[in-house]
Amino acid sequence: MVLNSPRGTADLYGKELTYRNFILEKSKKLFNRFCYDPIVTPAFEHTEVFSRSIGQATDIVQKEMYTFYDKKQRSLTLRPEGTAGVVRAVVENKLYAQNLPIKLFYAGNMFRYERPQKGRMREFFQLGAEAIGSANPLMDAEMIWLISDLFSSLGFKDLVLLINSMGCTLCRKSYTQKFQEFLHHHQEKLCPECRHRLDTNPLRVFDCKRQSCRHAIEDSPKISQHLCSSCRDHFEKVRRYIKILGINCQIDHSLVRGFDYYSRTVFEVVSTALDSAQNALGGGGRYDDLVKQFGGPDLPAIGFAIGLDRTSLLMQQLGIKPSASRELKSLYLISMDQQYSEYLLELLQFFRKECICDTNFNIKNISKELKWAQKHHYDFVAIIGEEEFKNCRVSIKDMQKFKQHAFDWKNEKDTILALLRGN
Ligand SMILES: [Zn+2]
Ligand SMILES: [Zn+2]
Repeated sequence: MVLNSPRGTADLYGKELTYRNFILEKSKKLFNRFCYDPIVTPAFEHTEVFSRSIGQATDIVQKEMYTFYDKKQRSLTLRPEGTAGVVRAVVENKLYAQNLPIKLFYAGNMFRYERPQKGRMREFFQLGAEAIGSANPLMDAEMIWLISDLFSSLGFKDLVLLINSMGCTLCRKSYTQKFQEFLHHHQEKLCPECRHRLDTNPLRVFDCKRQSCRHAIEDSPKISQHLCSSCRDHFEKVRRYIKILGINCQIDHSLVRGFDYYSRTVFEVVSTALDSAQNALGGGGRYDDLVKQFGGPDLPAIGFAIGLDRTSLLMQQLGIKPSASRELKSLYLISMDQQYSEYLLELLQFFRKECICDTNFNIKNISKELKWAQKHHYDFVAIIGEEEFKNCRVSIKDMQKFKQHAFDWKNEKDTILALLRGN
């Protein structure tokens, strides 16, 4: 019997993996330019790391976490997101003892027990950035700049950046009360789940995808109109800075991100090309109180994360190709008979010092091999047939120019190199 991978997981290879690696490679270069350092944290943490930060009343903590007890009865959870682990690491390792802000980026697999669908898996891949230790609205602008540059460097053109402010603990509290009152008056229009949220975590009603609930809150009080003066000032500055950067953004009053730890600026990059239930490609926001909650000093912070699976899916739907940044030439070495293996090995070693090179481990006929090499965009094909083997020669075919040369292997290595280097 063939064993399958668990529901909501996938094997990645071929094209899918090319896209993922392309996104990772591009973003690493970008993070480097913005002076963000890499960090790797564990794939599982003590359950409390997430329940304390994301919030007890959120769907993630209540329904979607992979929580288990280890052999010593410790409650552990596979990370459902990246920020909590990074903040835990920053506090535990006292990374804040250096020059602030600390700017970090990460990439890794995350886990949520959700109903799997296209672009939403139970094991998914995210990359993200965190900047800890600055309350400056310039920091918010840099984060938004970073996420929007990330998508444009991947080749996206028409994405929308949504922005909102969730206020601080002070102004959000009074707003939440007003919003709750409003919901009580419109209770009958809400779905059963939202009626439950109304008492436990009213702001989560914004997450409901049901048309009826969305309609019911259309005329509700807006959080950005109930900010205290310092939150209002912060939000205005952020919007001014991103305007200077030439980034198009829209204020979205219903953008109230699903985790408890957010404060002030929140943002999301959405695509209108994917269906509405999963149109967010990435997003983030400020979490000014989280470091303190983890037992660290009172350090304001901001971050974002993007989903690699959805981004890759959308790139494919929009026909965006990972541009090959292959600077090395590639060569496919074809041997016509297994008897030539030792000679083949010698050539393979030579070519691999100079270019991307593979060989046919299984001998097939030459025209099949050539077709394969062409399909995989090799720049050159080198052939060892009977003639070449006997006379210690090698034939090299330029796949773009359709020219073929035969070289004396012992005496013409320099000429071969010149050909491979395009001189
Ligand atoms: Zn405030
Ligand atoms: Zn609802």
